[in-house]
Amino acid sequence: MQLITGQTKLLGIIGNPVEHSLSPVMHNAAIAHLGLDYIYVPFPVKQADLETAIAGFKAVNLKGFNITIPHKQAIIPLLSEITDDAINIGAVNTVWRTASGWKGTNTDAEGFVAPLKNMSRDWTQITPVILGNGGAARAVIAGLANLGCSEIHVVGRNPDKLARFYQSWSHTPNITSLLKIHNWDNLASLISAADLLVNTTPVGMSPHTDASPVDADLMQKLKKSAIAYDLIYTPNPTQFLKLAQAQGATTIDGLEMLLQQGVAALKIWLQQPVPVEVMRNSLRDCLY
Ligand code: NAP
Repeated sequence: MQLITGQTKLLGIIGNPVEHSLSPVMHNAAIAHLGLDYIYVPFPVKQADLETAIAGFKAVNLKGFNITIPHKQAIIPLLSEITDDAINIGAVNTVWRTASGWKGTNTDAEGFVAPLKNMSRDWTQITPVILGNGGAARAVIAGLANLGCSEIHVVGRNPDKLARFYQSWSHTPNITSLLKIHNWDNLASLISAADLLVNTTPVGMSPHTDASPVDADLMQKLKKSAIAYDLIYTPNPTQFLKLAQAQGATTIDGLEMLLQQGVAALKIWLQQPVPVEVMRNSLRDCLY
């Protein structure tokens, strides 16, 4: 067991609730593997206590931390600087210390894109279709824009929310110009056109493991050459990915994004390569 002393450097995650976060599992596994004198601790922090908690982190010399619900937006005014990804997504999930104060970014976009970067595709020529227009879809859009996609199709079930979602990108004209918004009724034609089909809805998540945002009949329209990417990581694979596999499509599960957003954060804090396979295995052991 790791010996914690007065020299041990602190990392952590704040949220409410934070008890079920998998971040301590993967980060402490990596720290142990690297033999570093760090520890990553979950801190349950209520909304009303956020400012006090951040001041306390400075006082106890925390090196960096992750942020989860409900603080991903509320943290922004408490930071001295945020990255373009955090501006585009409108939320921060990773913070570290700089000479001028706390700096924040959002590693979800990088985490989403990481498994795609290993695939040889001309990303400027593909048609990506995103199912759902919630918080996770924002990171997917930012990631696809970084990848060089020249159009990004978003499908949602609520026209009012879809219109507000489109409006919410008005501060980033370079992304707004890529976005094409569609109602769920147009799904059939979009599935046949999709080279990358991403599920950012919770449909199919445990315990509703038989559900899929795209039914079996519609999934038959998916090209064999397409990539199906589900952000859900329990179950693994989801029904959505099973149907896509049956079509011969390439599939990516949500564990990769969860893992890679953590990998990106840990690299920022440690400024050195991190053991990705150790982190992946720690998540698999914990989840499955
Ligand atoms: P969210 O903000 O609540 O957004 C969910 C979206 O899905 C909304 O657009 C919602 O539409 C839509 N939706 C919900 N039920 C639907 C249904 N039956 N049919 C069609 N659309 C439906 O949630 P989120 O934070 O984006 O998270 C979404 C999923 O991604 C969750 O399963 C989460 O676990 C997963 N996730 C994974 C990672 C990872 O690292 N792998 C990271 C983030 C999120 P309405 O707005 O109309 O309700």
